[in-house]
Amino acid sequence: MNARTAAPPLSCTVRACGQPLTRRGGAYACPRGHTFDIARRGYVNLLQPQDRKSRTPGDARMAVEARATLLSAGVGLAVVDELVRRVAAMGLQPGAVVVDLGSGTGDALGALAAAASIMGIGIDLSAAAAEEAARRFPGLIWIVANADRRLPILERSADVVLSLHGRRNPIECARVLKPGGRLVIAVPAPGDLVELRELVQGAAVERDRVDAAIAAHAPSFDLEERVTTHESHRLGHEDLVALLRATYRGARASAAGRVEALTSLEVTFASDVLVFALAAPPARS
Ligand SMILES: [Zn+2]
Repeated sequence: MNARTAAPPLSCTVRACGQPLTRRGGAYACPRGHTFDIARRGYVNLLQPQDRKSRTPGDARMAVEARATLLSAGVGLAVVDELVRRVAAMGLQPGAVVVDLGSGTGDALGALAAAASIMGIGIDLSAAAAEEAARRFPGLIWIVANADRRLPILERSADVVLSLHGRRNPIECARVLKPGGRLVIAVPAPGDLVELRELVQGAAVERDRVDAAIAAHAPSFDLEERVTTHESHRLGHEDLVALLRATYRGARASAAGRVEALTSLEVTFASDVLVFALAAPPARS
């Protein structure tokens, strides 16, 4: 076991500060005196006013709740299981720092922590999601912050960064990962939700997002592994409505009406899971 301290490698989010945060009683504080209270529920809100706005407008809370409802029904677990297998195979040291961007209600990080001794740090824009994650997995660290912006994580401090169908921030991921660190992302695979897309859009357009994801992460990352997960579920009416909300924020009324009329539908879930290694930095001249 390495000599890692038990303190999470958080950094201050006050503009142009970035100093390490240390826990002092019921708050985190930086050396410049900026403090962030830990909520009674156990999460900490590091969101700054200028970072409140997400790049994707919409009702994030409704989507988070819908996704949590589906996961609790066992829908969408194949990608979580694959993630746990991939990270377990990395042979991380006990206490390894794993950061989840867009951690939602904590399912992925919670499953990882059950399988390996990690310091899990979940980041989500939704305080409601962070509160629920902290309730379910009180041993992990849950942060409200905008994962599209500067991450509230110290440089070269994370062993693994995850982004499952969530925010992607290649430059910040490269900054916070240790040398040799891994980035694991999941993107919808061709065939994902094809039945729902046919219903909502009329025709399912197959898009392969893997090439775009690889291009977005070059030159800081090298692709090590790619695996596709599939699962299929016959969803009842309420789960279909939740899925519509989780997938199409602000779906058109006509599409919502077509889903409202359904009693059940067989739905395919497919994800491409990509494991990247942080490339060695170019030699300084
Ligand atoms: Zn500060």
